[in-house]
Amino acid sequence: MRIDIVTCLPTMFNGFIDQSILKRANDKGIAEIHVHNLRDYSTSKQKNVDDYAFGGGAGMVLMIEPIDRCIEHLKSQRSYDEVLYMSPDGERLSQTISNGLSLCENIIILCGHYKGVDERVREHLITREISIGDYVLSGGELAAAVVSDSIIRLIPGVLSDETSALTDSFQDDLVAPPVYTRPAEYKGWKAPEILLSGHNAKIEEWRFDQAVKRTQQKRPDLLKEE
Ligand code: SAH
Repeated sequence: MRIDIVTCLPTMFNGFIDQSILKRANDKGIAEIHVHNLRDYSTSKQKNVDDYAFGGGAGMVLMIEPIDRCIEHLKSQRSYDEVLYMSPDGERLSQTISNGLSLCENIIILCGHYKGVDERVREHLITREISIGDYVLSGGELAAAVVSDSIIRLIPGVLSDETSALTDSFQDDLVAPPVYTRPAEYKGWKAPEILLSGHNAKIEEWRFDQAVKRTQQKRPDLLKEE
């Protein structure tokens, strides 16, 4: 998979791309993220990418031209499954959406900034709009990082334990059961004995019960009535 992120703040992705899961995915040649600076696609002398909103009002708007030139350039190199725009009024990101996106070959993610992007970008260049929640961020960069991470960790071979992503919260409409590691007892606080018993079937049963209990307590909305 290849993700191309289009942003006016490319350095925001530095630490994110060269660490942990994303670095591993990149090193293994499974997924790569490329970050594109909108300013490189500006035709103005000052490399402007934003301007005042028509009709007045506070806040700058990202202009269509640099965005269109960047996306056109990318599309001339390969075809894209989706051109995503990060937006607070988009579809709310969920595990189901991430599962679907993880099957894509090439994705562009456009990050807005300031007041957002010229509406014509959304009308003509974007295939899907995604929100990471009902709150407003200063820019789409953190949202693009969240979406990229949630997608890339699902691609087989990225996580060292292949089954790990499948046993995470939400994959089966349940949250994940509690986990423990050494020491088995700390300050008198004990890990459940069943987990140390070696009875795999019983452990799985315990985990399932715990996942159901925890979902009832924390996220009863996930337990849909059939
Ligand atoms: N004026 C806009 C908010 C702009 S915030 C409004 O009221 O809807 C600036 C940029 O941050 C947006 O263009 C978007 O790319 C990004 N952003 C802000 N909140 C977001 C969220 N919850 N999910 C995804 N992207 C978000």
